[in-house]
Amino acid sequence: MNKGIVILISGPSGVGKGTVVKEILRDGDKYALSISATTRNKREGEVDGVSYFFISKEEFRSRIEQGLMLEYAEYCGNFYGTPKAYVDEMVNKGKNIILEIEVQGAENVKRIMPEAVSIFVMPPDMNALESRLRSRGTEDEETVRKRLDTAAVEMEKAVCYDYIVVNDRLEDCIDDIKSIISAESHKNINMVNFVKGVLEK
Ligand code: 5GP
Repeated sequence: MNKGIVILISGPSGVGKGTVVKEILRDGDKYALSISATTRNKREGEVDGVSYFFISKEEFRSRIEQGLMLEYAEYCGNFYGTPKAYVDEMVNKGKNIILEIEVQGAENVKRIMPEAVSIFVMPPDMNALESRLRSRGTEDEETVRKRLDTAAVEMEKAVCYDYIVVNDRLEDCIDDIKSIISAESHKNINMVNFVKGVLEK
């Protein structure tokens, strides 16, 4: 069986990454989503173990020390990290695993796993980003400001990604990302086991 691909999706807060990822996951059992651990407070409607694993800073530190995190980063005063075991398990099961993570984390994963495919989702412009972030209504004014400041810094890193996709029309953005994943999964390095299997029969 071919191994799955690790797909890193980043983009500024409010760009619509969550919606894009949700739509991609509808595509049957080819995909898995990595559920991150975070120290931030749960938002209304979020479910522990589904949206995130909500844990304390002490617990987060302990998991880092035990080597349980593939990567982690501090973002707007909270820690976020990817549990390693699940990613390994999914890749070995041949699933394409999606990590929706911020730029420092994506950079760290790329260092450990250069074969991971990184995709940066850009807003069409800053005004669109600001109005999406505000209309979401999940953050207070101070947090919105912090996230917009962070967004500018994050977008400077977009050029370090393998692909940049603009989320102007949601459907187009989803199609673009699906095309990228499809092309990447047909790269010869990802088809080696399939070719071997055909030859062995
Ligand atoms: P939010 O608080 O809006 O859910 O997430 C804030 C930022 O943290 C987003 O850019 C999101 O992609 C990122 N993030 C979520 N999980 C992880 C993770 O496991 N690692 C890293 N490095 N960033 C994450």
